[in-house]
Amino acid sequence: MTKCAECDGSISIPNDALAGEIVTCPECGASFELVETPQGFELKTAQTVGEDWGQ
Ligand SMILES: [Zn+2]
Repeated sequence: MTKCAECDGSISIPNDALAGEIVTCPECGASFELVETPQGFELKTAQTVGEDWGQ
């Protein structure tokens, strides 16, 4: 369980989550990218502006 940087809401990270996966805060709808660290996953604010996902 991690806290949302936007609203302090609780975001649950699945056990089978992968680095680079996008999770969305159920409280405010903010999107975060999972970044793997030695301590576990951290949430990085997903930059959706100006990024090309190749779709
Ligand atoms: Zn939030």
